[in-house]
Amino acid sequence: MAAMTAEIPVRMPVDGPDCDWCATRLRSELAGHRGLIDVETSGESAIRVSFDPDLCSLSCVSDAAQRIGADLGRRFHHEILPVSGMDCYDCARTIERAVCRVPGVSSSSVNFPAAQMRVEYESQSDTQRIDIARQVRKQIKTLGYRVPDLPKTDSAAPVGHHDHDHDDDRDQDAGFLVRHRRDALTVVSALLLVSGLVASVAAPEWVSVVLYASSIAVGGALIAKAGFGAVVATRRPDINTLMVVAVVGAATIGAWLEGALVVVLFSIGESLEHYAVERARRSLSSLLALAPETAVVIDSGTETEVAVADLQVDDVVVVRPGQRIPGDGTVIDGGSAVDEAAITGESVPVDKAPGDEAFAGTLNGEGRLFIRVGRAPGDSTIARIGKAIAQAQSQKAPAERWVDAFARRYTPIVMVVAALTAIVPPLLGFGTYSDWIYRGLAFLILACPCALVIATPVTVVAALARASGGGVLVKGGAFLEAAANIEAVAFDKTGTLTAGRPRVTKIVPLGSKTEAQVLQLAAALEVASEHPLAQAIVQEASSRNLVVPPADSFEALRGTGVTGVVAGRPIRIGKPAAFANHPDRQRLAEVAGELERQGRTIVVIGDDDHLAGIVALNDVARPGAREALAALGPLGISHLVLLTGDHAAAGHAVGSAAGIDDVRAGLLPEDKVAAIAEIEEAYGRTAMVGDGVNDAPALARSSLGVAMGTAGSPTAIETADVALMGDDLAALARLIGLARWSQTVVRQNIGFSLAVKAVAAVLALFGLLTLWMAVLADVGATLLVVANGLRLLRGHPRWGKLASVPILSAVTAPIGDHHER
Ligand code: ADP
Ligand code: MG
Repeated sequence: MAAMTAEIPVRMPVDGPDCDWCATRLRSELAGHRGLIDVETSGESAIRVSFDPDLCSLSCVSDAAQRIGADLGRRFHHEILPVSGMDCYDCARTIERAVCRVPGVSSSSVNFPAAQMRVEYESQSDTQRIDIARQVRKQIKTLGYRVPDLPKTDSAAPVGHHDHDHDDDRDQDAGFLVRHRRDALTVVSALLLVSGLVASVAAPEWVSVVLYASSIAVGGALIAKAGFGAVVATRRPDINTLMVVAVVGAATIGAWLEGALVVVLFSIGESLEHYAVERARRSLSSLLALAPETAVVIDSGTETEVAVADLQVDDVVVVRPGQRIPGDGTVIDGGSAVDEAAITGESVPVDKAPGDEAFAGTLNGEGRLFIRVGRAPGDSTIARIGKAIAQAQSQKAPAERWVDAFARRYTPIVMVVAALTAIVPPLLGFGTYSDWIYRGLAFLILACPCALVIATPVTVVAALARASGGGVLVKGGAFLEAAANIEAVAFDKTGTLTAGRPRVTKIVPLGSKTEAQVLQLAAALEVASEHPLAQAIVQEASSRNLVVPPADSFEALRGTGVTGVVAGRPIRIGKPAAFANHPDRQRLAEVAGELERQGRTIVVIGDDDHLAGIVALNDVARPGAREALAALGPLGISHLVLLTGDHAAAGHAVGSAAGIDDVRAGLLPEDKVAAIAEIEEAYGRTAMVGDGVNDAPALARSSLGVAMGTAGSPTAIETADVALMGDDLAALARLIGLARWSQTVVRQNIGFSLAVKAVAAVLALFGLLTLWMAVLADVGATLLVVANGLRLLRGHPRWGKLASVPILSAVTAPIGDHHER
């Protein structure tokens, strides 16, 4: 028997399966279950399993999932902690390593752009859990960074996710000087340095030495704290440690000015880096600041203002002209044009009338709308986008992993070179110790991999921000890299290449029923289906004012149709192929064949003995599909394929309208998976563009799964690697263009940082590199690399009309004003 697919709700006390670590664990533990074929996560708190019903039952799979879920929830705990005070990418790495050394912690990852750390730990008891949570905080503080204390009230309740917004507020509440402590110290340190320089001209030498020394003390205090902390917590030196050694070394050989210069330049560089990355981060999260804070709820005529967080499903809210829509829902009264750019990137307002779906965070135009809230605030499209963005930022791109691995070796090697340079030549009688120590110190500064490690993440964050501004949600740097290397694209037909708004063009009764009765029967089942064809049938029934009888049961057969019980009788609806063994197949073939030749999509309605009738639908290619696909050619994408579950004539009709020759028709969802494997084999890395709901397996199998028109479908946002929020095929070429561009920028950045180091190393060897030049090379390269990465936020010919963010303002924009637009 064929595989069965079902959704199982899973309860995990701490996190839902939306936590990817737990989801992976749940999947792998469940995968061993007898008869299980595939497990996918589906939404917040459910998994989708397919299994062989001959080998196990749904209830046994479900029991196992509950048991494993509950067990994971008991053992594993996650926290998302805001960490403030991180100034450079390398510090983030140090914190990661330090926290990982806390016993019980199974993984930790710091998201530098988001200033957040995610920790996972495993504990056997509550006391142990609290103990670990405390150790983690202590470890972070040892390094000199700030992290909120463990809430006192929390001693019994499980440690769950922290709410990021509140943590932001907390940081805002801290005094100005606390938030800008490092900047303030840097300014004082710089002033002392300048006074020292002035004094060196007019006053005795000791005056300027004292001034330089105090400049070092003031500016170096935090660096030293972080540097020692790193050694204590991770047993490894980090950038700060290297700087401390270099400065102390410089002072020892009497190069006070040099030491002060190193401190000041390094601090300035760190601050600028911090602000620039902060800028990129904010352009990524500014999207999320769009949801309003309050909503006006109407209840039997009275209006009450409530916090958006307290909105309930089925509340009716009124949205006045110019306001942002507070929750996802359906328009029940009123009419207006709504600017959905926040979600789809499309700035042309969309007309909304009763029955239309509206999204939280989108901007109401001139009219007034009454909306029935359909999703809880935490489940809204914009909230899901936010979650996806947060995860995307913490996921490392392959290039970044390569650089991290490189830096792990590079730094210690250069440190050894530094030590040898300082000791060996003078030992062998070449030159003086102070001369060679000086060169060695220059090498030590060169050991900082700052520019190199930030080269990729800053570019990726900028590209992700840019994409999300254009309505394209990319789920991480790895997918950006995948998008840059795509060689072929496969498209689903219905809802992807076609507008997904098919029209019923003909109804042919095959038995004793009238057209209206056939339609009524079909609509009774299709109301429960998400499929575009189903929606067209329901719409046709309602435009004919037909009363749709209730269905007693309903099941979707992915890729073929639906079944269910209407008025006590089992009914099947689907493609002609699904009726291949029907007693009336002869008759069906005659009528359907004629309609198929016209390129129509056919839906048959009947039961096991009788056919009730046929509905023919016309589902044409989207306007602009041909142009959108033609734009892929210049990007070097050599092969386009259309995959459809529909029959060949309908496939070719749409294919030729969109400019695709390779049409593969009559495919079931699993055939689409096999087709993707075949296309990858023949043409190289393939992206699959589909609707994300019934094409999920093919999306998962492809090198890049792209879901289209996902604004209305939360599952699609979660299953795809890339979600095109709008309904615009042209976004695909823009995405690939952006991905290619970001890959170029990443390569430029990595190449440039390596080249600067190489040149500086040669100069250092010949004693031509002063300490301040070494720091300047490092700081300068870092800032150039960051600025180059942030270029992705700005205009690009192929990426069109998006908001521009000048590089200069990106680097210098003041921190503090959070809600910008
Ligand atoms: P595509 O691959 O073109 O997106 P699907 O795989 O979603 O198409 O569906 C393939 C065929 O199965 C459709 O052409 C239609 O005949 C039938 N079908 C699928 N779902 C339904 C449904 N809910 N109601 C009626 N027919 C359906
Ligand atoms: Mg489809």
